[in-house]
Amino acid sequence: MLNFHIITLFPELIAAYCSTSIIGRGVKAGKISVHTYNPRDFCSDSYRKVDDTPYGGGPGMVLKPEPFYAAVESIARPADSPILLMTPQGKRFSYKEANSLARNSDITILCGHYEGFDERIRSLASHEFSIGDYVLTGGELAALVVIDSVGRLIPGVVGKHVSVKNESFVDGLLEGPQYTKPVEFRGMSVPEIVRNGNHKAIAQWRRQEALKRTFSIRPDLLAEAELDEVDEAYILSLKKQIES
Ligand code: SAM
Repeated sequence: MLNFHIITLFPELIAAYCSTSIIGRGVKAGKISVHTYNPRDFCSDSYRKVDDTPYGGGPGMVLKPEPFYAAVESIARPADSPILLMTPQGKRFSYKEANSLARNSDITILCGHYEGFDERIRSLASHEFSIGDYVLTGGELAALVVIDSVGRLIPGVVGKHVSVKNESFVDGLLEGPQYTKPVEFRGMSVPEIVRNGNHKAIAQWRRQEALKRTFSIRPDLLAEAELDEVDEAYILSLKKQIES
């Protein structure tokens, strides 16, 4: 069981996604839980003011530290569990981080909005993550990316758990092509090899296709992928094909 604690000014955004499809089913099955905490509920003033103008001037509003600290301190969570701050300035979130976070019982996520966080809110976080080099209006989409990519790694969330072990990035490679019926579609056919029932040959073909795809689309991944001698030899043959 993995408990997500999301600190957000827009809890309805998180609730809508997390009650739907695979993550929704994971919640209903008791494999993951998603709790939201609205910093507005932790304001001490009657206006429930969560933001204020930036010191030094400039456009937009900055999120105040007090309600965020109070929200985090209200959460029943293991003291050493991770607190993620979603920010375009953070480390790029990847499968590696998702896989390592999935080992926790509790994950707290801070979502920013407006111009972003007062700098002192950063001291709450154990990790700062970005989901890409662009700026979103708020951290909710980024938090949902974390919830979805980590949540689906918890056994029982995705129907057949083995399927999350055979996907892109798990062993450092992109997954190769997949086909379903019909065999022929608009002049495009399913390769004979995946139809012949020879599981050893199919596994070898899939491995080679994964290597080929990674080599052509994301060669940067190969440096850290788990490759054996046969894989290395195949990649060498791909390089030679390009050179010739
Ligand atoms: N002023 C900030 C800056 O220039 O770095 C951007 C603030 S952004 C408009 C508001 C909030 O959206 C951020 O505090 C963060 O929580 C979230 N956010 C925006 N882009 C993000 C990204 N690429 N990854 C993760 N969170 C992001």
